[in-house]
Amino acid sequence: MKTYLVTGGAGFIGSNFIHRRCEEGDAVINLDQMTYCGNMDNLSDLPWDSCHIFVPGSVCNSELVSYVLQTYEPDYVVHFAAESHVDRSIKDPNDFMHTNALGTATLLNAVKDWWQGLHEPLKTRFRFLHVSTDEVFGALKPEDAAFTEDSPYRPMSPYSAAKAAADHLVRAFHNTYGLPVLITNCSNNYGPRQFPEKLIPLTILNALAGKPLPVYAKGENVRDWIHVDDHCSALDAVLKTREKGETYLIGAQSERRNIDVVRAVCTLLDELAPDPAGSHERLITFVDDRPGHDFRYAINPSKLMSATEWKPSRTFEEGLRETVQWYLEHTEWVERIRSGAYKDWKKTLNAYKARQAYLAAGGKPEDAPKQEA
Ligand code: NAD
Repeated sequence: MKTYLVTGGAGFIGSNFIHRRCEEGDAVINLDQMTYCGNMDNLSDLPWDSCHIFVPGSVCNSELVSYVLQTYEPDYVVHFAAESHVDRSIKDPNDFMHTNALGTATLLNAVKDWWQGLHEPLKTRFRFLHVSTDEVFGALKPEDAAFTEDSPYRPMSPYSAAKAAADHLVRAFHNTYGLPVLITNCSNNYGPRQFPEKLIPLTILNALAGKPLPVYAKGENVRDWIHVDDHCSALDAVLKTREKGETYLIGAQSERRNIDVVRAVCTLLDELAPDPAGSHERLITFVDDRPGHDFRYAINPSKLMSATEWKPSRTFEEGLRETVQWYLEHTEWVERIRSGAYKDWKKTLNAYKARQAYLAAGGKPEDAPKQEA
């Protein structure tokens, strides 16, 4: 059993990562500030004996981070916490610089101070894994080769610029202080528990509600899609390499144009949740392009695939079908986002704790207190 300090674990990828760790019997301390996309519902179905400890707070709070490190002595810090939505970064870049750049610097500094005073064997065992994005490399043309670990940094949006700053800081802490870091840059994720402001869940939920399906420009921008479980299994594989100061690109070699992704979601919904009014494709609405919209991202994952045994476990078509099914089956999760009820995370946490205490005392799962809808 290992102890993980996960930052941003109530968000999309972090919560999926925590589910995996709990299934493996590891202990997870989850430091999350619970911004608009922090969702305690993402974690409230964890099993009662899962060792998930939630600490509300920001990576920008140096004292809190130091306290958590000293109290729990994690084997690994896995840093997901970020502002992550490019559209929001265009409207208000400040929060992005604050959390993604300054927050990472604050976290790194607290980790470095704690790690330097650590006892063995924890000091040698410890790793800091920084979870970053392929967007730091900028945009590709149709004829360009996919990004590799040697691609130059050319971030184009406030989001990717702030993530690039974080990547540089992580490398600087390795070079300057010897902090044992690993960096991953992953392509676009999709899967369960993604906040419905991103393309795939937005398309699914709007289509089910009979609302327009907004597509930027003509939908020709290309993204390289990976299922969130495959991203998380790649993070496990990277940690297992035990290397220090290495960078790995993560991707499933599934480039698709946005319009093709939206049409594929419509086709699946036509089959799984047909609308008497006609095909969901009728709802597709082309809107003005995003300013500075990167044309194409693509990842060459060969370094990761030759250094480890990792490979993606599903095709994009299989993963998309599973994902559409997940949103269709999790109507309560969807409804609590639609109504805004998910924002009352303290209430959700209390209900979760009451359920765990009931089960720990030997109560039957079917009689345990339930989360209010
Ligand atoms: P998300 O927006 O769903 O979740 C981010 C989480 O971080 C939320 O729970 C939020 O409450 C928390 N958070 C925000 N500011 C915080 C702070 N100051 N302190 C502590 N917690 C804070 O994001 P995601 O899609 O799960 O992405 C997670 C990470 O993975 C990000 O660093 C992102 O850059 C990276 N990434 C995402 C993708 C993708 O396609 N979603 C792809 C590659 C890399």
